[in-house]
Amino acid sequence: MEVVTRIPELKARLAKARQAERRIGFVPTMGYLHEGHLSLMRRAKAENDLVVASIFVNPIQFGPQEDFASYPRDLARDSRMAEQAGVDILFVPAVEEMYSRGHENLLTSVEVSRVSQGLCGASRPGHFRGVATVVTKFFHIVQPDTAYFGQKDAQQVVVIRRMVEDLNLDVRVIAAPIVREADGLAMSSRNVYLNPAERQAALVLSRSLAQAESLLRGGERNGAAIARAVRGIILQEPLASIDYIAVVNPDDLAELQTIETSVLVALAVRIGKTRLIDNLLWEE
Ligand code: AMP
Repeated sequence: MEVVTRIPELKARLAKARQAERRIGFVPTMGYLHEGHLSLMRRAKAENDLVVASIFVNPIQFGPQEDFASYPRDLARDSRMAEQAGVDILFVPAVEEMYSRGHENLLTSVEVSRVSQGLCGASRPGHFRGVATVVTKFFHIVQPDTAYFGQKDAQQVVVIRRMVEDLNLDVRVIAAPIVREADGLAMSSRNVYLNPAERQAALVLSRSLAQAESLLRGGERNGAAIARAVRGIILQEPLASIDYIAVVNPDDLAELQTIETSVLVALAVRIGKTRLIDNLLWEE
């Protein structure tokens, strides 16, 4: 595996691969890799000739009170794990490499309206603008045939898919299933923030979604009833405070009163100081 930090070097390397008609798969991450990231890398390896993964903690997608500075980082460990998962090129640009005039001086951004507004967008204003902008930059730099994202960040998938469609970007977007710990907790780099009591309390997210799934399987089709059941379970956990519970259409994130063939039940819950997200994508 090659570790590349400079954009011109990466582009030169990829131009050669493209000339040789190698299919390029791309997996963008913020690092501190876990099995969720590795599942995307392995899938990219299986479906492409060359896999590029990026590790970049993108300052413009963090709010002023968020954890940009303290976000966990461990490049040595990440490099070993990415190599084992089949990554050919690990792109690890410095902030100045991605934002040559400084990220505060960025004048151009990509805004995917409406689908960026609710859910996580409501408590993280500007977050999806930061995501859409950096992903656009990566797509231009890497020019992948296929890019891989996790269903863990369900709203991100909707935003990226919509951006690719609206702007005719020449990339296929794959969303891969959520990878969980044995006890159900969705894997996240931020899980390291949890102390043992919080780690236990965090199970309330997946437990509440399991209840939603069982209600759906039992024939419940009322969106508000699903939301109420999820809320009831989370409220039983004293360390948890709810940011949102959304029962929405998986394509446009519009709230669903009545569920027809598919639904996204998405939630964000603070466990102590750590904000966690999880979701259930249910299809009949
Ligand atoms: P991050 O490093 O958190 O920005 O995540 C990079 C990519 O990995 C995103 O597309 C995430 O949705 C995906 N990802 C993160 N956690 C998981 C997980 N538990 N299962 C599947 N994909 C994940």
